[in-house]
Amino acid sequence: MQAHTAPFTATVEGVTVDLRHWIGGERVASERTFADVSPIDESEIAQVAAGGAAEVDAAVAAARAAFPAWAALPVAERSAILRRVAEGIEARVEDLARVETRDNGSLIRSHRRGVMPRVAMNFRAFADFAEQQLGHPDMEVPGRGHRERISYDPAGVVAIITPWNAPLMLATWRIGPALAAGNTVVVKPPEWAPLTASLLADIMHEAGVPAGVFNVVQGTGLEAGAPLTAHPGINRLAFTGSVPTAGVISKAAAENIVPLSYELGGKSPLVVLEDADLDLAVEIAVEQFDNAGQVCLKAARMLVHSSLVDEFTERVVAGAAELRQGDPREDGTDVSALISRRHFEQISGFVERAISDGARPLLGGGPNDELGGLYFRPTILVDAKPDAEIMTEEVFGPVVTIESFDTEDEAVHRANDTRFGLAATLVTSDRAAAERVSAQLNAGTVWVNCFFVRDLEAPFGGNGRSGIGREGGIWSFDFYTDIKNSVFSPTGWKE
Ligand code: NAD
Repeated sequence: MQAHTAPFTATVEGVTVDLRHWIGGERVASERTFADVSPIDESEIAQVAAGGAAEVDAAVAAARAAFPAWAALPVAERSAILRRVAEGIEARVEDLARVETRDNGSLIRSHRRGVMPRVAMNFRAFADFAEQQLGHPDMEVPGRGHRERISYDPAGVVAIITPWNAPLMLATWRIGPALAAGNTVVVKPPEWAPLTASLLADIMHEAGVPAGVFNVVQGTGLEAGAPLTAHPGINRLAFTGSVPTAGVISKAAAENIVPLSYELGGKSPLVVLEDADLDLAVEIAVEQFDNAGQVCLKAARMLVHSSLVDEFTERVVAGAAELRQGDPREDGTDVSALISRRHFEQISGFVERAISDGARPLLGGGPNDELGGLYFRPTILVDAKPDAEIMTEEVFGPVVTIESFDTEDEAVHRANDTRFGLAATLVTSDRAAAERVSAQLNAGTVWVNCFFVRDLEAPFGGNGRSGIGREGGIWSFDFYTDIKNSVFSPTGWKE
């Protein structure tokens, strides 16, 4: 941390980014700053305002003040504003892609083609869903003539805390439905990739989102995140991040009985049955190195039928060896760097301990020495013991294990042998096996012969240590609203 003598804006990949908070429709500086470092080359991008309890108080107060008017807007008017936000994002896809890539090291080509358009969808889709789903036809108490009216009232101020691996995507996946339902929002972006949240504030402002409806407090988890989670003025807490942090913030939020929605880590399986299309299985396996494996949904444990495992392994190793590692700003790069020195050391430690515990690397196994910096080679391990740390703990990097099984029961048992339950992927050409096995897999999302596909209207979330609750479509509104049942008697009226 240092005193804030630094400038209030920075030019990042040609884009001007404000480094201050966005509170009550204004830019607000802090006395101190923190260094935002790029994983690409470990260079300092900028000194960003380091908020604390005072900035959180101000942001929550601004959000509370803006709440009644935003909540009272007819849903069609709120949705119209959110569609303008989506248009603003679409107009700035290139800027957002450039800044996000420099900030968190993920591939610019993914941002241009998939991630940033989806960020816009997070507003457009929930604007549509709000218009379609927030009304509910009245029900009748059987035999009594009472009418029951279900209404979805906005909950109030929603606190949103997000991680660095897909910062804008994960933030807007919460912000979109929270605002569409009529809440106001305070976001605490990740200190390792804080910049696109600031660009989003500009876009919100230009789209006509009223002052105080959307607020950003920059800062570290301990200094800015912790006071937000413990704040008595918040009505919902949506957190995406790691299990240990979730444990800490659960205690803070419990003081005020604040409802939580948690999207946490995973240790997801890829199950390849005997009759699988091997080309497809290999393609899905190689995809797991996207974003240098820093993906919560990654299929980290590959379970392959013993009749296919040799050919599968050989082909996945060959496919992953061909991935081009390097600067994520180049269109031809497939795998980039890890987010920070600390994270790089954590991933190195996991792999070193796995190898000393008997696992064998068939590919990678350590840093990319040619590139240096934070580039860790795609790593494929075999022969890990079932209870080894590498098989049980989330390793948020480009590391997967491959093991074989003989029977379907064994595959299901091993796939489910984890405290997590975020996702599972199944490859099979047998429809009956697909139904049977997918029904038994313990995960919030099961993909069959596909990976990473989901409609925003469908529920998303994890079982066990992978999270609490579901979001998507009506499930988001269940969380971001106070659902009320008003029962109208047939009697007692004047007429
Ligand atoms: P993290 O838990 O370290 O940090 C997440 C956020 O919490 C950051 O903004 C951080 O500043 C904040 N934070 C940290 N300590 C805090 C505290 N005491 N009080 C309040 N806020 C605090 O996680 P990370 O390393 O940024 O992200 C990686 C993790 O996120 C992985 O476990 C990954 O699986 C998970 N993740 C889950 C999903 C999902 O949808 N399930 C998506 C992406 C990432």
